[in-house]
Amino acid sequence: MLAFDDGVHVLGTEVWLDPRKRKPRAIVTHAHSDHVGRHACWVTSPATGVIATHRWQARSVEPHPFHEPWDDEGARLTLLPAGHILGSSMVLIERAGTRLLYTGDFRLGESATAEPCVPVAADVLVMECTFGEPRYRFPPRAEVLDQLCAFIDAAFADDVVPVLLAYALGKSQELARLVSERGYPVALWGAAHAMLSVYRELGVSFGSCEPLDEQTPGRMEQLREQRRVVIVPPQRSAADVLRSFPRRRTAFVSGWAIAPHVAWRPASDAAFAISDHADFDGLIEMVERVKPRKIFTLHGPDSFAGELRQRGWDATPARHANQLTLL
Ligand SMILES: [Zn+2]
Repeated sequence: MLAFDDGVHVLGTEVWLDPRKRKPRAIVTHAHSDHVGRHACWVTSPATGVIATHRWQARSVEPHPFHEPWDDEGARLTLLPAGHILGSSMVLIERAGTRLLYTGDFRLGESATAEPCVPVAADVLVMECTFGEPRYRFPPRAEVLDQLCAFIDAAFADDVVPVLLAYALGKSQELARLVSERGYPVALWGAAHAMLSVYRELGVSFGSCEPLDEQTPGRMEQLREQRRVVIVPPQRSAADVLRSFPRRRTAFVSGWAIAPHVAWRPASDAAFAISDHADFDGLIEMVERVKPRKIFTLHGPDSFAGELRQRGWDATPARHANQLTLL
């Protein structure tokens, strides 16, 4: 049986997947704030354990490498790469002859920093569906990157600072790598820059990246003279450093770039659809590769389960399906 009222709980066991409330021990697929809690023991991939220790001060981490199963509470568990951010995991649970795959957040296709996603066959699939509407289809990544570089070049030609608005964990580091390795020096918001050393420790390389400190007067002018690309998170506090500096041009870098209607999109001069989530076609591809007999959808529109049912799959939004007997 599964319960979905706090992450995913395999009932009758102490297996909790991404719960938000504190647990004595919980599997945490990745270190984004909507997937973590103040648990006594974090069960994670080795990379997520390192990131969680740095980002969330996780005191006790039980790391499990990808593809190495272990027996836990009467179930066999295996972490698999999810392709979302560095260290992000999917969880395969084998119990009583049934295979359940929980995706956490995932992305198929290439990433500059995350391990490539490895879908496997399962009887039951519990999946995120953030971009679970057909209008959310991302253009080819190489094309978007070319457009992003053209935006940067145009800003430099006009003698203004190109400022990329990107979430602090995962997207900022991926962008820093993509941009710096194309030869553009970068200045990265302090908290996001601090994570670079963690990423480097985990084997990810970067070109020239300096920290951007909100408190330093004249720093933005210095960065303009140095022709650096600035990367800051979109939250208001980060924007304060920009407000008094008009010689800038901003671009929001997110899957939500293709959704101009969403209220939480920050104001920006441009937007580029580079996401660490699967788009609509990626979600469908995940289902086709896993070939489950039952699907539960999480973290997205309920209508995505309807899209799957139209394609012949047995799919239900998880919040409508509490405590079903499956395992
Ligand atoms: Zn995430």
